[in-house]
Order: sequence, then structure tokens, then C-alpha cells
Amino acid sequence: MHCGLCLNACPTYRELGLEMDSPRGRVYQMVQVANGAPITESYREHIALCLACRGCETACPSGVRYGRMVEDARAEIEAHTTRGRLETWLRQFVFGRLLQSRALLSVAGSMLYLYEASGMKTLVRALGVMKLIGRLGDLEQLAPSADPPFFFSQIGRTFPAQGERRYRVALMAGCIANVSFARLNEATVRVLQKNGCEVAVPEGQGCCGALHVHSGLPGDARKLARRNIDAVLSGGFDAIITNAAGCGSTLKEYGELLEDDPEYAAKAKQFSGSMRDITEFLASIELNRQMRPLNATVTYQDSCHLAHGQKIRTAPRKLLSAIPGLTLAEMRGADICCGSAGIYNVVQNDMSMQILGHKMETVNATGATIIATANPGCMLQLQAGVRMHGKSQRVVHVVELLDAAYQ
Ligand code: SF4
Ligand code: SF4
Repeated sequence: MHCGLCLNACPTYRELGLEMDSPRGRVYQMVQVANGAPITESYREHIALCLACRGCETACPSGVRYGRMVEDARAEIEAHTTRGRLETWLRQFVFGRLLQSRALLSVAGSMLYLYEASGMKTLVRALGVMKLIGRLGDLEQLAPSADPPFFFSQIGRTFPAQGERRYRVALMAGCIANVSFARLNEATVRVLQKNGCEVAVPEGQGCCGALHVHSGLPGDARKLARRNIDAVLSGGFDAIITNAAGCGSTLKEYGELLEDDPEYAAKAKQFSGSMRDITEFLASIELNRQMRPLNATVTYQDSCHLAHGQKIRTAPRKLLSAIPGLTLAEMRGADICCGSAGIYNVVQNDMSMQILGHKMETVNATGATIIATANPGCMLQLQAGVRMHGKSQRVVHVVELLDAAYQ
């Protein structure tokens, strides 16, 4: 079609104004490669600079499935990439071991906690030590915090519904979230309990594979998908819940990820059909309205993988509006990516910070004291934005506001 209606929805095009860094330009390049053009350094860079935010999918009137295309392009680039030994080892360690291992994540989380609790982190920031080591120092701003006790200890438990049991649901607790967002996971369980849900956190679950898919490693993602399906599907739950929109988007696409696997294709489809984002689920049931007022002005940042990946925009706003005393102040361009995008803010730090800077301008214009979103990755990015821009807004998940209102 080449209509260009996607251009203004694309954060990298908005920043750079370059056709080759627009959705239309990237589709053009993918088509060239599909028709036999070589994978050049320039092609790698333009595809790597894409946030895979899928804002272009929402804008496209012709139904171009850009998200699927860019994942395939990245897998193909990965298959034609030779890396140095250190980078290869690091990628294998992070994607193949760290994200998949409860023990390694716990060790990493404990070390991070020691760094923070000993005062080292504060000292290092106060002395500006990180600035001396350049790029690594910038990245430190984006590192998640450890939040002990870790949620790993809750995996395998079942939490009873408060009052009459209306639903039986399973919670996907994530991977890094068990270490860095343990309190968010606990709040999610409490809010579900308050809404008549018995909440199981099935043993055997693990990383959803979203980061693997976005990094061109679909084979690893398939392995993780099979593990999660085996752990959860046989429980016969009314819904499988996640509080992480980025994970939810991939969990809902297990059906496609495993469509060519004769043993798992049907099970994957069933699993994805039961997946619900926490905001989607709560907005679809009769919500417990016994809440105390929260007198605050809140602005809501759409997570790309919720708004564009899962087409969920109304549910989180409906939940926020249900909290007495809360005023929702919409920011301009709430559904434009904040620059987080999985590990994009680490591997494409300059562009990510540029996008975050513009996001913070629109946040600040609302006068809100709280920024709500529905994805832990976006929370980390926005927290960094608040710090870097010398502001004081609290950054929370929608579920944490509900949890506060129920207490
Ligand atoms: S996914 Fe996002 S960054 Fe990538 S081309 Fe589409 S709108 Fe632009
Ligand atoms: S991707 Fe969609 S919106 Fe963008 S140029 Fe092509 S047809 Fe138009």
C-alpha cells in the first residue's frame, strides 16, 4: 500500500524523520531481503533500531502484521550473525541460563540487594562514579532493584478467594519480576483474592520467552513455552493471568509460536486462549467496589504490548476510573512507546533516552503526581525518566493502585 499512515505512530520516525527508520521503510527493506538482497550492516541497524512497539500495527489500515514480520527478520539476522566470544557467551548466559534459572536469578537478586542495602548504590550515584565509566553508568539508571523477599517462595502455593469463590485462576509470576517486582506480584494476588478468585501460582512455570522472541531466538522461546504449558494447562483454570503486558503479548501468541509443533499446537492454542492481562480480566468481571478513596491525579501510560499487541486500552482506564477520589489526567500520545521495549533501553540506549525525554515532557504537562502503567518494564523506564529529569512522580502499576484502594 505504501500509504504512510503508520509513519507518525512510529517513535523512531518521529525522532529521526528518516524513511528507513519508519515502519514503511523497514517493511520495504524486509521485502528486499526476502527477494534475495543481502543482509547488510545498514539493514541490521534499521531493524535493530525498531522498538517492536507495534504502534504501526494499530495505525495501519491494511492490517500489516508488522510485529510478526520484525520478529522473523530478527531471527533471520540472528541466524546470519557472527559475534565475538565475549558477546556470544554473555548472550548465551543471559538468554540460555540466567532468565531460565530460579537459582541464578535469586543469586543475582541477592547480590543486587546487597549492593543497594549496603549503601554502595547511593554512594556510587552521589560520587558520580558511574559517569566515569561512560555508557555503563547510563545503563545503571535503568537497572531494576531487588525487592526481597523474592516471589519465588510463593511459586507452588494456592491463595484462597476472599468471600465466595467466583473464579479459579493461575498467575504467571514471570522471571525477573520474582526478584524485582515481588511486591507487585503480591498485590496482584491480593486484588484477585478481593475479587473472589482462588489464585494458584503453578509450580514448574518460568520465563515466558518474550525477550527471546524479540531478540531473534524463537527456538529458545518455544522451549520455554512448552515448559509453561506443561506447568499450567492441566490445572483447568478459568483464566491464566499476567500483570506484565510484555509477557502477556507473547503468552497470548504461544498458539502461533508452536503452530508447527504437532504435539503442542493444540495445547498452545488453548493456553493462549485462556491468557488474560490482569486489567483485562478485572475489567471483564463484576468488580469489587469496596474501596477507600485515593485522592490523587494519575496519568496513564499505555504499555505498547497491551495497547498495540493485545489491543487493550479501555480496561486499565476503566479500573482507574473505578477508584473513588482518583482523577485520571490523560497525557498526549499515551500510546506512544516510552522507549523501554524489553532490553531496547539497554542495547539502543541513546534512542531510548531521546524517546523517554519526550515522554516525560508529556507526562509533566498533565500535572499528575502518579504515573500508572501496566507493565514492569515500562515502570522501570518511567522511574528512570522521573529520576533523570529531576521530578518526583510515583510510578505504579494499575493493580497497585487498586490494592491500595482495597486496604
Ligand atoms: S514497531 Fe514501533 S518502532 Fe518499529 S516500526 Fe513499528 S512503530 Fe516504529
Ligand atoms: S505498513 Fe500499513 S500504514 Fe504503513 S505504509 Fe504499509 S500499508 Fe500503510
